[in-house]
Amino acid sequence: MPVNQKAFEALKAALGPAQVALVAVSKTKPATEIRELYDLGQLDFGENYVQELVSKQPLLPSEIRWHFIGHLQSNKVKFIAPFVHLIHGVDSSKLLREIDKQAQKAGRIIRCLLQVHIATEESKFGFDEEELSLMMQELQNNQSVLSHVKVCGLMGMASFSNDEALVRKEFSHLKSIFDRYANEEFNILSMGMSGDYRIAISEGSNMVRIGSLLFGSR
Ligand SMILES: *Cc1c(COP(=O)(O)O)cnc(C)c1O
Repeated sequence: MPVNQKAFEALKAALGPAQVALVAVSKTKPATEIRELYDLGQLDFGENYVQELVSKQPLLPSEIRWHFIGHLQSNKVKFIAPFVHLIHGVDSSKLLREIDKQAQKAGRIIRCLLQVHIATEESKFGFDEEELSLMMQELQNNQSVLSHVKVCGLMGMASFSNDEALVRKEFSHLKSIFDRYANEEFNILSMGMSGDYRIAISEGSNMVRIGSLLFGSR
């Protein structure tokens, strides 16, 4: 299926003035379709699976900024450390330490977002508020140790639900948590997908991750 150019232009027109960054989620889509969207001017792409990302990345322009948005296992960090632009789903101190280690090996500083669990569903990964507070404390205290990661904000997923009030409440909650820590360096709030990005933006998101709207259903 070809990329939905109309949807892409409409999204850009809506997000640009609001200064909301667009990550095009290309999981399960072939390199040819990613290339199509790149040719329309898109540079940020998001992938969920390490194997898939590692196999597609060499086929595409090096200018592309690859976002890892899936659940990342510590033992796979080394495969994406040499090139990944932003890791959205950091949900443990152990994972952050491994990213730091692999970033050091690759001679890079890797930018990360901490994932916060905001949905009512059990299945979504992420820190709860208490754990996040401890993680932020740990970062404060270990700045010199964790010198190859840069934690620049938060990521969250709302419940997969048609209940707009619920979704809005969850995004609004994440925004209020983000505001506690936000500063010049900690300034990315990644929330919103194809089905709920409008709500996310109205609740303060500044980065949306959009797949099916651009590439069609998976
Ligand atoms: C798949 C995925 C998206 C994109 O979902 P769409 O509904 O296709 O826009 C966004 N974020 C994460 C974490 C995902 O896994």
